[in-house]
Amino acid sequence: MSIQGLPEMKGYDPLDTTLRFVTRRDDLDPIYDDSLRAEMSCGHAVTPESPTQWCRNLLDQGHYTFKGPALVEGTTRCNKAWSYQEVRRLADLSVEEMQHFEDNMARMTAARHCFQGESLPDKCYNSNIFLINLTSFCRFKGSWD
Ligand SMILES: [Zn+2]
Repeated sequence: MSIQGLPEMKGYDPLDTTLRFVTRRDDLDPIYDDSLRAEMSCGHAVTPESPTQWCRNLLDQGHYTFKGPALVEGTTRCNKAWSYQEVRRLADLSVEEMQHFEDNMARMTAARHCFQGESLPDKCYNSNIFLINLTSFCRFKGSWD
């Protein structure tokens, strides 16, 4: 439920048994440490805001594989890959955010196919219909990798 004029606050459902909740601080951003934390597949604790910001950042820089940014030793990052499905769940992505992620990922996937010279009809590359089809295909397939 959102309050008019304010962005909806993210938060995990404490009854969601598919998430593994932890009591330690958010490994990505210690500022957001008063809401419920859950563990990513790489073993680092997050709150929904921290993977949202990190992955949006990666996406805006043209990356669509999401790797954990938690520092493990000095300046060495975790770098374990998170699947989009995992990000979507643990970042508690809103409908608008999902749309933003999926549109960009579809565009980048199409560009990759194009660069690799895979056999897609030329006229499809730049058409919105192609991108819409690709998005639906990937949603249906349930996998981005
Ligand atoms: Zn990690």
